[in-house]
Amino acid sequence: MVRVAVVGGGPSGSCAAEVLAKAGLETWIFERKLDNAKPCGGAIPLCMVEEFNLPESIIDRKVRHMKMISPSNREVDINLENQDEYIGMLRREVMDSFLRERAAEHGAKLINGLVTKIDTGLKRQGPYKLYYSDYSSGDSTGVACSIEVDIVIGADGANSRVAKAMDAGDYNVAIAFQERIKLPPEEMKYYENLAEMYVGTDVSPDFYAWVFPKYDHVAVGTGTMQQNQSLIKSLQHGIRERAKKRLLNGEVIKVEAHPIPEHPRPRRVVGRMALVGDAAGYVTKSSGEGIYFAAKSGRMCAEQIVESSASGSKVPTEKDLKVYLKKWDRKYGATYKVLELLQNIFYRNDAAREAFVEMCDDKDVQRLTFDSYLYKRVVTMNPWQQLKLTFLTIGAVFRGNALAPAHYSPVASAVRTEEEANLMLSTGAIKGGIKTTKVC
Ligand SMILES: Cc1cc2nc3c(=O)[nH]c(=O)nc-3n(C[C@H](O)[C@H](O)[C@H](O)COP(=O)(O)OP(=O)(O)OC[C@H]3O[C@@H](n4cnc5c(N)ncnc54)[C@H](O)[C@@H]3O)c2cc1C
Repeated sequence: MVRVAVVGGGPSGSCAAEVLAKAGLETWIFERKLDNAKPCGGAIPLCMVEEFNLPESIIDRKVRHMKMISPSNREVDINLENQDEYIGMLRREVMDSFLRERAAEHGAKLINGLVTKIDTGLKRQGPYKLYYSDYSSGDSTGVACSIEVDIVIGADGANSRVAKAMDAGDYNVAIAFQERIKLPPEEMKYYENLAEMYVGTDVSPDFYAWVFPKYDHVAVGTGTMQQNQSLIKSLQHGIRERAKKRLLNGEVIKVEAHPIPEHPRPRRVVGRMALVGDAAGYVTKSSGEGIYFAAKSGRMCAEQIVESSASGSKVPTEKDLKVYLKKWDRKYGATYKVLELLQNIFYRNDAAREAFVEMCDDKDVQRLTFDSYLYKRVVTMNPWQQLKLTFLTIGAVFRGNALAPAHYSPVASAVRTEEEANLMLSTGAIKGGIKTTKVC
């Protein structure tokens, strides 16, 4: 029986391991930290709930109202009228452990261990050797172990060791920063089923900032391209300032940061090693969405392995694994391109962002955006809608161009409090931590 090691127990790894184990392949899934709380906004599209059979119990909030807030603080409300539709908001520690345990129930061997080294010998016919520190005995230094497998799936996120071992090449990353802020129940009521997205150079010169509701707290965060990462604390200050009237009595319970890949790696399959999820670089531009694409790519990669191995009896080749890439690029290539284009048009400067928020007031734009996000499907428009959308986009381009680049000043006047200065964020090695300070 073909032996597969899945490195990483996030959504991409667990969804891959589940498919492999169900098909009877000998599957190991390695997760270095079983209670890992991946820094994440935790927003998932509705289609993921059904497609991945997620129980409602792991969804903290069903968001049906979005507020888009422009640089000049113009607010546009977007409401999902159909009560069956929602954006799911969840805590990653809850979802990830659910998916991992489900994979284990289907027969994947879940190992609480950190994979430290992979002997690849990429061109060789024989098995790969994985070295790992096994933490299952509770020993924090771990017990040194090794295992031989025929195939390795790298589902180990943006700092992937598997990608390094297979010489997959680098990608540009964005840096995202988030604080989890616990609100008193009466203030949390405002965010019952509402999420907020803020745009403006004060909160992000490249993307958007967010306030997403979770179980008993909100996740408040922002992201920016790596070259602007020295601004990240000022940008976080910016979003806290803009949202402060809602966060008056909040308490910061967690501070977290993590890189987000900006595009796929140059090589996603080398030998019998394949990358999925963030390790491959499957986060979309504009929206920064990666959970669904992680789960989906893990599943698609595993399905290809099962198919090419004749249900586990023959070891698939590099050529077989590359079929997964072809299918992936055919299915989602256009989505990534369109979202990149939108990011270039609408996040260019504050004038373009102002036009973008205005555009979101249009019901057709709202329907189009929600349909493509919630259901991951191509939305057809009638000629009138197409024409209107084209005019709105061209208008945004003109308004963006009208603002001379010299006016671009990323967060020049940010005030840094002592508390913020204490937030740990170091170049390259970004680490989260726990804080218990009052917000305001
Ligand atoms: C601040 C922030 C907010 C975000 N918000 C959203 C959002 O709202 N919606 C959305 O769709 N996406 C969001 N994303 C993106 C999303 O978090 C990722 O795209 C998604 O987590 C990718 O899943 P993954 O399984 O590929 O990798 P990860 O979730 O990173 O999982 C990798 C796993 O591998 C484990 N691991 C790593 N190395 C090893 C090793 N050597 N041995 C064993 N285990 C290892 C890690 O512990 C981790 O559990 C956000 C990202 C950030 C940083």
